[in-house]
Amino acid sequence: MTALLEVEDLKVAYGKIEAVKGISFTVEAGQIVTLIGTNGAGKTTTLRTLSGLLKPSGGRILFDGQPLANIPAHKIVSLGLAHSPEGRHIFPRLTIAENLQLGAFLRTDKAGIEKDIQRAYDLFPILGERRKQAAGTLSGGEQQMLAMGRALMSQPKLLMLDEPSMGLSPIMMQKILATVAELKADGMTILLVEQNAQAALSLADQAHVMEVGSIVLSGTGQDLLHDESVRKAYLGED
Ligand code: ATP
Repeated sequence: MTALLEVEDLKVAYGKIEAVKGISFTVEAGQIVTLIGTNGAGKTTTLRTLSGLLKPSGGRILFDGQPLANIPAHKIVSLGLAHSPEGRHIFPRLTIAENLQLGAFLRTDKAGIEKDIQRAYDLFPILGERRKQAAGTLSGGEQQMLAMGRALMSQPKLLMLDEPSMGLSPIMMQKILATVAELKADGMTILLVEQNAQAALSLADQAHVMEVGSIVLSGTGQDLLHDESVRKAYLGED
């Protein structure tokens, strides 16, 4: 079976600084794949490159059988690769409903868009209750829900989530991570970057540990959850 996403020897540099130093991994349809690692390891850089926001300095990205080199970011969204970025980047002055509509900016099927907005409200009822309010009035966790809902509005084949639980209360974190599991159960394919390594590994089919721009360890989520070096470095064990 060919993978939905194939990343081969990907390199990304900021000027002379190589932030991603030749990483390779695949994401099969229906899987959750996670990238974990300390701050500055290159995880966000990897997602931004897959989205077309940064240009790789080397390697190959194949999405749904198509090379992504030189394809602009909006075209990559229309191919089915959606990105819920670190820091959320919602539009605070627009309403929640308007933010969701913006996630569908490449679509013209009005009825389908309405259906998917309703689906976002089903997934996150608070968004429905406050649909007419400015998004800037939402709490951090609710803004994260909106960012995920907005990314889903492009009807992606692959959803990339960058640090969805960052800065959230434990209860909100649980809710967000439960939704990630729910999306997978519905058949969504997810590439997850998460600082909560325990949660990410528990959810993931495949996991990769990044350190200073390289993948240093790969395995199933369960393998890495039980790996001694991972437990010491990322799960806070002595
Ligand atoms: P974090 O969890 O902090 O976001 P990360 O694993 O996602 O960490 P990146 O944000 O991808 O890491 O950063 C990888 C490296 O690239 C770091 O050394 C970072 O300082 C550097 N870097 C990131 N963005 C830029 C930029 N715009 N210009 C120069 N260097 C950058």
